[in-house]
Amino acid sequence: MRKPLVVANWKMHMTCAQTVSYLSKLMNEIEGVESVDTVVCPPFTALRTATTYLENERTIIQIGAQNMHWKDKGAFTGEISSEMLQELRIKWVIIGHSERRRYFNETDEIIILKVKKALEEGLIPIICIGETLEERENGKTYEIVQKQLFSVLEVIKSQEKPEFSIAYEPVWAIGTGKAASSVDANDVARHIRALIGSVLSPDFAKEVRILYGGSVDKDNFNDFLSEPDIDGGLVGSASLSAITFAQLVRMAS
Ligand code: PEP
Repeated sequence: MRKPLVVANWKMHMTCAQTVSYLSKLMNEIEGVESVDTVVCPPFTALRTATTYLENERTIIQIGAQNMHWKDKGAFTGEISSEMLQELRIKWVIIGHSERRRYFNETDEIIILKVKKALEEGLIPIICIGETLEERENGKTYEIVQKQLFSVLEVIKSQEKPEFSIAYEPVWAIGTGKAASSVDANDVARHIRALIGSVLSPDFAKEVRILYGGSVDKDNFNDFLSEPDIDGGLVGSASLSAITFAQLVRMAS
C-alpha cells in the first residue's frame, strides 16, 4: 500500500500573515488524520513563516517549496538554492511545473539538473509532467509523457536511494476547471509506472507515488483516489482554501 500524498501548490498566493491563518485552520480541520502525507507549498517569502509556525505543533502538515535552482550559490538573481531550503528543514520541492516550463522557459535539460540536485541533497522532488491540449488532440499524450519522464529517469537511476514522486498534470487541465477523467488519468499513471519499472525496476515502481493534478476539487478528488495507480493529488486553486484542502486530505485518508 502506498501512503497517499496530497500537495497544495499555492503558486503566487498568500502573504506571511495569510500563511499563518491558513495553517492554523488546516491544522484544526485535519486533526486526527494520520495516514496522509500532507504537503503545503507556499511562495518562497512565506517558507520560513510556515516552518517556524509548525515547528512546535503536533501536525502531519509538511512544508514544500515550489521550485529551486540546481547550483549551490552564485550570480543567479532571484533564485533559491537547496541549501537555503534545507536550512528551513524543507524536504519537498516541486520541479518542472508546467507554468515554470511555459512562462520561465524551463526545458527538460533544466529539470534534469534540478531533479539531480534535489536528490543529491536529500530533498524529495515532486516532478511534474503532462501534455498540452494540442499534443493531446494530436494523440501525443503518451509520447510527451514518455519523453519528459525518460529524461529524468536516467538521472534518478544514477542515484543510490532516490525518493521522488511524479505528478501527472495535463497542461490543459491546470487552472481551467476541466479535469481529466479519472479513467484517462489512471491510464497515463499506469503507463508512467510501467516506464519507471522498465528503467528502474518493477519493485521500485510499485513504491513510487504518482499524483494527478489539474482542476482537482472536492467533487472529483474521490474519483481520482479510487483509481489504482493514482496515489494522491497536486492541487492548485482548490488548495487556496484551508477548508477545501482539508476536505481533500480527509478524502485521501
Ligand atoms: C497546479 O498548479 O499544479 C494545479 C494542478 O492547479 P489547479 O488545481 O488549479 O488546476
